[in-house]
Amino acid sequence: MPDKPSVETKEEAGAAENGAEEDLGGLTPEELRQGQEAALALEGMMALSTQSLVQAEVEDLYQLERPLGQGRYGRVLLVTHRQKGTFLALKQLPKASTSLRSFLQEFCVGLWLGSHPGIVAAYGIGLESADSYSFLTEPVLHGDLISFIKPKVGLPPGAAPRVAAQLAGALEHLHGLGLVYRDLKPENVLVCDAACRRVKLADFGHTRPRGTLLRLAGPPLPYTAPELCAPPPLPAGLPIRPGLDAWALGVLLFCGLTGCFPWDRPLPDDPFYGDFLAWRAEPRAPLRPRPWLGLAPAADALLGGLLDPRPGDRRPVGSVTEYLGRPWRLREGGEEGEEGEEGEEGGGERGVEEGE
Ligand code: ADP
Ligand code: MG
Repeated sequence: MPDKPSVETKEEAGAAENGAEEDLGGLTPEELRQGQEAALALEGMMALSTQSLVQAEVEDLYQLERPLGQGRYGRVLLVTHRQKGTFLALKQLPKASTSLRSFLQEFCVGLWLGSHPGIVAAYGIGLESADSYSFLTEPVLHGDLISFIKPKVGLPPGAAPRVAAQLAGALEHLHGLGLVYRDLKPENVLVCDAACRRVKLADFGHTRPRGTLLRLAGPPLPYTAPELCAPPPLPAGLPIRPGLDAWALGVLLFCGLTGCFPWDRPLPDDPFYGDFLAWRAEPRAPLRPRPWLGLAPAADALLGGLLDPRPGDRRPVGSVTEYLGRPWRLREGGEEGEEGEEGEEGGGERGVEEGE
């Protein structure tokens, strides 16, 4: 699977605290209040963290072992503490492209999420060097989920429901704190073991409080929810909601089950999205889009709920748990995990070999 860039958005300062009562962009007053509380808490943590940044060059404190990954914004290195020898992951963000504010936001969200089995643990150490900002997290040593998704096939047998349940748990934790993750894609899901049994969510660079006003600034991606592609409901932008993550989870699971993206972008001029909308409107077998052919009824129902184009009707990430224990691919027998051959049906025309 290719590394699609993150959804690019422009952000208004602060949450939608002045959002007119009569139009909260689909958020209830309670949801908005929770987002405002999250924004305040985060600002407080950021103010404290600025004061406690360690001023040092990375190499003075840590021994560089090897690169763990490179993203669009930063690189992640495996390092060891020079005195204690502990292995750590260090995410380094160049000052040339990262403001102190965005660094602090990402660093503090990681800290605020605290200890959760589905979330990469943050160690509370932020570093300011001459050319970069860095912070430390636990290293997760089996790469990210993208390398486990075989083009036109998907994840290994049994992995998709396990990954889905763990990611849903991590996202529910984050949503419960009044935050929206906003960057769900396989590159941000780290794998803890060779059999892809345990995964952890990483990269909180795009996480923002619920209700923050955003506009799409770049081209839409498969993971971009349709409401972000449409003209915003408020002049200043769309007040963000957890439904953005539910959509992205649906797309990620589709990729994990088929090895293909369901569409390039959720706009009616995209033929694959157009086919999907037509099938939704009239769910008859002959209209089932080709990339969806290998999916079992439980996956149809789960993805149908997560990928509801109307944000108000979209099912939450936690709906995943209703569909566990049933096969998600047609060729999977009884238990997810006991499937036989697969691939030719599940593969649509949009697998990665075609150089997306
Ligand atoms: P960016 O914000 O630039 O997207 P990420 O935080 O996503 O950066 O990190 C880039 C890549 O580094 C990830 O896609 C992943 O492969 C790897 N990575 C990130 N954090 C860790 C970690 N804690 N342990 C191991 N690898 C990691
Ligand atoms: Mg990333």
